[in-house]
Amino acid sequence: MTMIEHLRTLCPDLTSEQAERFEAYYALLIEWNRTRNLTAITEPCDVAEKHFFDSLAAAPLLKSGAKCIDVGTGAGFPGIPLLIIRPDLQMTLLDALNKRIEFLEFTLERLGLAAACVHMRAEDAGRSARFRQTFDAALTRAVAPLPVLLELTVPLVRVGGQSIAYKGDAAAEIADAENACRTLRCALKTVPVEAAYGARTLVVATKQAETPGKYPRKAGTPAKQPL
Ligand code: SAM
Repeated sequence: MTMIEHLRTLCPDLTSEQAERFEAYYALLIEWNRTRNLTAITEPCDVAEKHFFDSLAAAPLLKSGAKCIDVGTGAGFPGIPLLIIRPDLQMTLLDALNKRIEFLEFTLERLGLAAACVHMRAEDAGRSARFRQTFDAALTRAVAPLPVLLELTVPLVRVGGQSIAYKGDAAAEIADAENACRTLRCALKTVPVEAAYGARTLVVATKQAETPGKYPRKAGTPAKQPL
């Protein structure tokens, strides 16, 4: 089965324009992966499920026109698949590795999609006037444990905004995130996601008050000394 045939079984409502974009994205991912080490997942059905379909899980949580940032986007997950089905989103794709940003800029142009691509560490973005407390939603997938993620993302969202983390079984991480939630002034809830390929959970942190000025701490500290 081809990638797009499998994706169509998972997302029967894809339009032909969306399907063409997913096919073009897949072709570029495979081509650039030969020299750029973008992903270990390359088999057609695996990419359809574990990258493309999986990335779409947060779509129902994002309001029309939401200003979103995908922190640690890598090869564009979840930000680009979300943008393919939700071009209304104002998407920023952020990653600390420049080789990923080059791929993202090239891919977005080829797909005819608009997003801001930012080469920066999340800790630096969270301290900058340009990005701090400016987003409706911050998305993360496969970037860090929850207490670390919260420090990287909660400073980026406005009060009332949400940090949405794509996780497998999140129970242990949630138990570890109590101090981070209190310190960063956010409250957690979980949204189970139906996936044939394993347990998936979206962990949604809603920001209740402004982030204290000392967070995020300097680059590297959130991972070395998690809250
Ligand atoms: N989100 C993508 C996915 O689901 O396939 C990529 C996951 S990859 C395992 C983690 C990515 O997060 C890498 O591209 C890495 O450069 C980026 N990253 C890790 N820590 C970061 C930080 N503090 N600021 C910005 N990017 C970071």
